[in-house]
Amino acid sequence: MADLIIALDRPSQREALALVDQLGDEADFYKVGLELFTSVGPGVVRTLKGRGKRVFLDLKLHDIPNTVAGAVRAADELGVDLLTVHAVGGEAMLRAAAEAAERVRLLAVTVLTSLSEHELGAVWGRTLDDSTVEVVRLARLSTAAGIDGVVSSAHEAAELRAQLGAEALIVTPGIRLPGGEAHDQTRVATPAMAVNAGADALVLGRAVTAASEPQQVLAQIRTQLESV
Ligand code: C5P
Repeated sequence: MADLIIALDRPSQREALALVDQLGDEADFYKVGLELFTSVGPGVVRTLKGRGKRVFLDLKLHDIPNTVAGAVRAADELGVDLLTVHAVGGEAMLRAAAEAAERVRLLAVTVLTSLSEHELGAVWGRTLDDSTVEVVRLARLSTAAGIDGVVSSAHEAAELRAQLGAEALIVTPGIRLPGGEAHDQTRVATPAMAVNAGADALVLGRAVTAASEPQQVLAQIRTQLESV
């Protein structure tokens, strides 16, 4: 069964922990992102670990190798289970991160899904017809440098699984229930589609956290995935 990771996209520790309380035993894995980490700091990770939860710290590290290695060590000491780094930090940065990681598993972010091919072309100074080519290239660069896997849309997961092999960890956000609201995401998939495409873990945001009964939605997703 794929891991189900709940995105703790809440502005304060009080609101974040209220969601954790509401989900109770139904959820054991949480993603702490830039908003929550910047506003409340590492204490929220310690609190989650103290409650026996696994933590995906989504900080998308991108800096010189020495600095990123230091941040990876600090995350490891906090007990973080999954941590993101930007593939575009380059091979030396990725290697330094991988060498610094003892227990934490590292995921590369390849191309931000918010970037259109036009914007990407403007940043990189060349014409890009298909960002999937860049996603696969950056994913291969990352795993070759010792990174454990990638964050990817479900639409690229099958290609990445084929290219990276069975060992790579593929974590997929942009998950929506069948017929559910897409919100601001453009490349959404249902839980079953993502798992069938090769995802090892799904990041569940508003599909669960904006529901009036989030624990029931999560239980339904687990049931749907049992037959996949
Ligand atoms: O609410 P929603 O399901 O859109 O939230 C998805 C979560 O996954 C958010 O925390 C978002 O930042 C994150 N994410 C994403 N797309 C990416 C990378 C991360 O939606 N490409």
